[in-house]
Amino acid sequence: MHYTGPVYRPPPEAHTPLLEITYGCSWNKCSFCTMYHGQKFGSSPLEDIKEDLEELSKYFPLDLKRLFLVNGDAFTLSTNKLLEISKLIHDYLPKIECLSAYASIRNIKTKSIDDLEKLKEEGFNDLYIGLETAYDPALKLMKKGYDSKDEYNQLSKLKEIGMDYNALLMLGVAGSGNYKENVNATVDLLNTFKPKIVGPLTTSIAENSHLYKMKTNQEFVEATEREKLNEELLLLEKLEMDDDCYFFGSHPYNLIRFSDNFKNKEKMIKNLKENMDKIDEFKPGLLDSVLPRANL
Ligand code: SF4
Repeated sequence: MHYTGPVYRPPPEAHTPLLEITYGCSWNKCSFCTMYHGQKFGSSPLEDIKEDLEELSKYFPLDLKRLFLVNGDAFTLSTNKLLEISKLIHDYLPKIECLSAYASIRNIKTKSIDDLEKLKEEGFNDLYIGLETAYDPALKLMKKGYDSKDEYNQLSKLKEIGMDYNALLMLGVAGSGNYKENVNATVDLLNTFKPKIVGPLTTSIAENSHLYKMKTNQEFVEATEREKLNEELLLLEKLEMDDDCYFFGSHPYNLIRFSDNFKNKEKMIKNLKENMDKIDEFKPGLLDSVLPRANL
């Protein structure tokens, strides 16, 4: 398989084969993100994609139903390019039903309803969208390249054609003292456009990130662990998801890791509260600090 530079995939896709169709990230400007620093963005050569598909068709001769297309925002490619690639995929892997990928709100903005419909017919579905938040001051601070109005406009296109998506969020993204406003804005968006997965991870600040500089200059004050967990609690309490929507709270950056369907929402809330109480009992003061996390 051809993989160029760093490769990332969402944890729920741990068992899905990864096909590279792009490398790097076409944006590469988010304040917190260092995932593709030093890696230029590009579209993978069709010859490489063909070779990888041939290899995959040997490993999964009859039954592969799902592929995850890497890298950072593979859905950035033009509709024509994505259709060309999906045709190849179906030629080599005729049982494929779902083509998932990371996608940005910016990537959807460049596609019309007609484009999205064609892509959905080819299997593009279950896109993982790194929304992080719908709170405008945080979106601006994190240099996401769009605002909450864009989020509403673009997710409404997906809703119109019935294309599923998964919402990736960041606990603590609005900084200390702002979690309630952050949750309220994000919940309004997600309750309007219900995702299949809600996946919050905890904000981490890598030393080579722009966010680190903002922290050093006091432009960004990191939320404490308690604030971030209270944010997660409020998020769970306020989200009105379908029973089968999956809450993926098990990202390694999360202090208390748990995942379940929303039909068990009350159980998740109880579990989170109990675990916070236990930390307060056995590690007093820990929740009022900020724990270091690895680079993202
Ligand atoms: S968070 Fe996603 S869109 Fe932003 S720079 Fe990183 S990979 Fe690109």
